[in-house]
Amino acid sequence: MAPAQNPITSKHVAVIGAGAAGIITSRELRREGHSVVVYEREKQVGGLWVYTPKSDSDPLSLDPTRSKVHSSIYESLRTNVPRESMGVRDFPFLPRFDDESRDPRRYPNHREVLAYIQDFAREFKIEEMIRFETEVVRVEPVDGKWRVQSKKSGGFLEDEIYDAVVVCNGHYTEPNITHIPGIKSWPGKQIHSHNYRVPDPFENEVVVVIGNFASGADISRDIAKVAKEVHIASRAREPHTYEKISVPQNNLWMHSEIDTANEDGSIVFKNGKVVFADSIVYCTGYKYNFPFLETNGYLRIDEKRVEPLYKHVFPPALAPGLSFVGVPAMGIVFVMFEIQSKWVAAVLSGRVTLPSPDKMMEDINAWYASLDALGIPKRHTHTIGRIQREYLNWVAEECGCELVERWRGQEVDGGYLRLVAHPETYRDEWDDDELIEEAYTDFSRKKLISFDPSYYLENGR
Ligand code: FAD
Repeated sequence: MAPAQNPITSKHVAVIGAGAAGIITSRELRREGHSVVVYEREKQVGGLWVYTPKSDSDPLSLDPTRSKVHSSIYESLRTNVPRESMGVRDFPFLPRFDDESRDPRRYPNHREVLAYIQDFAREFKIEEMIRFETEVVRVEPVDGKWRVQSKKSGGFLEDEIYDAVVVCNGHYTEPNITHIPGIKSWPGKQIHSHNYRVPDPFENEVVVVIGNFASGADISRDIAKVAKEVHIASRAREPHTYEKISVPQNNLWMHSEIDTANEDGSIVFKNGKVVFADSIVYCTGYKYNFPFLETNGYLRIDEKRVEPLYKHVFPPALAPGLSFVGVPAMGIVFVMFEIQSKWVAAVLSGRVTLPSPDKMMEDINAWYASLDALGIPKRHTHTIGRIQREYLNWVAEECGCELVERWRGQEVDGGYLRLVAHPETYRDEWDDDELIEEAYTDFSRKKLISFDPSYYLENGR
């Protein structure tokens, strides 16, 4: 940990967003003694986890004038991380067997995650810091401070000056659409997974789903329940790939990526197969977007790289007044929010110091060079799932907080392998009971649960 050089000071801090990142961050900032205002444009906490059957007015979300919906959650979604790993470390995501409205499964549905986030907000009295239905429209540095301009739902604009701003606006709302040669003349329907909710509109159709990671694997199987045929296009697969995937409806195929789309409705895959499809569903990820940030060109987004960001959190020349919680993509995101925001809170109070801007830039450039040397494309700058525990432990040591538990890292790594190998069953069949037991024993040791650790193993399926 870098030694503190300044006396501990309390700062006036704005947090943008009251999703999981924003509420966890505001708790950590307040714990460190800062005064906090959270801006949230919706009416409630939860961000992405507030499911709505509504979606953007443009199914590909390309039209800048479209009406927008924040959430990207589909009706059938269950978590892709086991609950004991997903929760905040001193407020575990426990099954609530006493309440029938709750989903006690190890990989619960999206409603259960929202209920957990609401429980967290209630427990730590987060809502008293939040200004709901208030959108941040501009953030800019002014004389060593930060000006935040916000708009209430009635259109009323307000300016306020803060010592610091922490950006927690979420990164799963602005779709990334892969270009397909010939797509302009292809006559079918197209939709991005951000706007996918239920399979019904695809009944009896031939559907091509692009992408086969968490959302692509789920959505292709969801649609296969009602569609005539579903064809997954995966750029991670060898060009000759053509496999039938076992599903009860016997109607799902895996291909390599798409070669062309044509005016006659055909889609040609790199494996040479041709299908005449009614719809394409893009499960091709999201873009970072900070439309309110005015940094005079200092911060840029280049092919999904937000640059420059020291350890994915601090832009060197604007730190510590501006910081970002939640930029990396990894398995244990709530714990990442917790550890990153503890670091931000400690730096702002002066308990921990950052290296000089030049040293931070050196570190960033060394990180980019290491990605280049490994042949990792720029778009994966913040995809750090492989090294998530190492990264989080580095940040934890920096701010003097508890390291990530061994079982948590192992559960997430093992869960990822199960997801890839058995996307249909990984949420209900597993072989790591000993890690679950270790997790609940840990919760018991820290007095976070009142039941015996073995109780969950006996009741939690
Ligand atoms: P969000 O939840 O998106 O919250 C951002 C908030 O900021 C929103 O409330 C928004 O209204 C507000 N906001 C944005 N801009 C402004 C503005 N200008 N002014 C005011 N307010 C603003 N993670 C897991 O741990 N487990 C999972 O199983 C899992 N499944 C996922 C499934 C899908 C389909 C997706 C897309 C992601 C999943 N994730 C999962 C990752 C997910 O991103 C995190 O769980 C987490 O909820 C993100 O929290 P966040 O606060 O960063 O963003």
